[in-house]
Amino acid sequence: MEGLREAGRALAAESARYAALGWMRGTSGNLSVRLRDEPLRLAVTTSGLDKGELSEDDVVVVDADGVAVPDQPHPEKVPSAEAGLHGRIAAVSGAGAVVHVHVMAPVLAAERWPDGVELIDLEMLKGFGRAAHDDLVTIPVVPNGQDMRVLGEEFEKSFRADTPALIVARHGLYVWGADLLQARHRAECLEWLLRFKVEGER
Ligand SMILES: [Zn+2]
Repeated sequence: MEGLREAGRALAAESARYAALGWMRGTSGNLSVRLRDEPLRLAVTTSGLDKGELSEDDVVVVDADGVAVPDQPHPEKVPSAEAGLHGRIAAVSGAGAVVHVHVMAPVLAAERWPDGVELIDLEMLKGFGRAAHDDLVTIPVVPNGQDMRVLGEEFEKSFRADTPALIVARHGLYVWGADLLQARHRAECLEWLLRFKVEGER
């Protein structure tokens, strides 16, 4: 499939960066990038591998439901269990890339603010695509679960086009953007913001 090799390389490189940050411990976390619009096709990291050691082949092409499509070099590879939520996020938001990391600050924030985490008047909000002043940003929180259709419904209920992130309680963070670079920059800035929130507001 066109662009798959390039996508695999990019996903491996990005995964290694997140693993080095300690945001993809064990085999946790997963990344995806959009390959095609209609029908929607995403390249997503393969399930169960150390995200610091992926190669360009450790990638699976999935549809909007996160199911591996037959027409690809390695249809036997298993996509991440969370690929279904990647597909839903990409379809609803139009994102070109979705990042899912098991990072601590959003999980701690969701414990304290289970109805959504509010952020305002912080310079780093600019890196998340919002204003540094007088712009109340609420990061939605949804309960954890293993059924990606249920999680997808919860995501869609909470979705706002100007807020490209979702916290899954007691689990981790999803952030998306036009491409992997924008998604990473947003994820890095949001992690800073959420760490400020949990450590700064006592
Ligand atoms: Zn996860």
